[in-house]
Amino acid sequence: MNARPAENIDTANIVGHFINGADIADANRPIPVTNPATGEVTRHVAMAKKTTVENAIAAAEAAFPAWRNTPPAKRAKVLFRFKQLLEERADDIVELLTNEHGKVLDDAMGEFLRGVEVVDYACGIAELLKGEHTKNVGPGIDSWSEFQPLGVVAGITPFNFPAMVPMWMFPMAIACGNTFVLKPSEKDPSAPMLIARLFKEAGLPDGVYNVVNGDKEAVDTLLHDPRVQAVSFVGSTPIAEYIYATGTSNGKRVQALGGAKNHAVIMPDADIDNAVNALMGAAFGSCGERCMAISVAVCVGDDTADTVVSRLQAELQDLKVGNGAEGNNDMGPLITREHRDKVQGYVDLGVEEGAELVVDGRSLRVKDHADGFFLGACLFDRVTPDMRIYQEEIFGPVLCVVRAESQEHAMQLIDDHEYGNGTCIFTRDGEAARFFADNIKVGMVGINVPLPVPVATHSFGGWKRSLFGDLYAYGPDAVRFYTRRKTITQRWPSGGVREKAQFAFPSNQ
Ligand code: NAD
Repeated sequence: MNARPAENIDTANIVGHFINGADIADANRPIPVTNPATGEVTRHVAMAKKTTVENAIAAAEAAFPAWRNTPPAKRAKVLFRFKQLLEERADDIVELLTNEHGKVLDDAMGEFLRGVEVVDYACGIAELLKGEHTKNVGPGIDSWSEFQPLGVVAGITPFNFPAMVPMWMFPMAIACGNTFVLKPSEKDPSAPMLIARLFKEAGLPDGVYNVVNGDKEAVDTLLHDPRVQAVSFVGSTPIAEYIYATGTSNGKRVQALGGAKNHAVIMPDADIDNAVNALMGAAFGSCGERCMAISVAVCVGDDTADTVVSRLQAELQDLKVGNGAEGNNDMGPLITREHRDKVQGYVDLGVEEGAELVVDGRSLRVKDHADGFFLGACLFDRVTPDMRIYQEEIFGPVLCVVRAESQEHAMQLIDDHEYGNGTCIFTRDGEAARFFADNIKVGMVGINVPLPVPVATHSFGGWKRSLFGDLYAYGPDAVRFYTRRKTITQRWPSGGVREKAQFAFPSNQ
């Protein structure tokens, strides 16, 4: 993150922050935001100082009492209007996503719509917060549990879903009655800022939703400030682990979703044509920059592997790589030049490690885009578990084929891997699929579904080192994560009746 020399910065074009219902200009430590397809610096983004983040926390704290006491049905009205505005401005948001992230437009639309689905779910908050009630838990005694908001909640999000991942968090947190401070990725900050303005336009009171742009200084401020009650994080595993350790040691509730290495198992009886098509989208969609991307295809049996590899090789000849904003490309560039070089370094490493590079995308050049951060799709065969290209998350358009002897062998590989985010199996055998889904040590499982990202009415999370914390993102878990249970027990003794002291612990026996 090198700051450019001050003289090269267009100060009118620095993304600032959104605090207490207003855009806040800031020129502190601006860093460039780049269009990855062209390599052009399109704007800069300010890195919030500690005091700026503290202002956002203070605004959120001041807004909390009134928002907490706003009836859930009224909160839902703001969310309904917000959803409407999001849909009206969908094309503008999607354009920002493609220009700053690089993903192709229809993929950007898909991400955006999956985020809006969480807003849909949050609109049902009056139903979701109803709580639990039991009459006569004891003689004349009633008891109920209610779910109270926590207060100020923070979200810290990655570059790869700049609209959807923040929308996994703040709509549910705010629907539950909390106020929120988001620290989005510094690589593609514009969509989250537009979305925050739309939420205000929908009628959200000032201070309920705030966005601070920044880096470690901003994140550390959120992790250490005692006014922040809970932190939701999505990003790479080393940072997730840091956020979880630091946040929890400061007494905060933390959910920290990390990296992944998602395996698809292709059984010999699978519908191979459909499995190959599914792998193409799941491995190379969004240039492999998805936490649910399939990065390992485990083919059971050499015949299966030979067929899958040759069909993938053929399909990859037709993969259209280019500017996500133009034409009907299938795959855009990687997020930054550094990341492209890192991914390319993994391809070099795979060759050194002895994997067979069947399709080599390293020489790809996109016409008229010499400065874009492109890398063609790469396919490795005969990858083995001792290789770093198998063990580490590459987060690029690189698919590794591993040959397994049996379903058990394939499942053992998955269970032994440090990550456990998503996985899938392609088969026509219901018994094999059921056994896989029941036993595999992974949080999200697809059966003939390559990207089993739960819909908004379920919750999203991985196992092992893909999630630190107990509760998943969005869906029913979000209501639990963003609220504190309180159980109230009440009785109204009849007037005038003299009661004796009871020294035995009360029970119904
Ligand atoms: P990242 O971990 O580099 O950054 C995530 C966030 O943390 C950003 O807001 C960033 O500014 C902040 N951050 C970075 N370094 C920090 C530090 N040292 N201290 C404090 N904060 C810091 O991740 P990324 O590169 O933006 O995103 C890609 C990663 O996110 C991949 O590993 C991917 O698997 C993961 N991801 C996971 C999920 C999931 O649901 N499990 C979803 C999307 C992305």
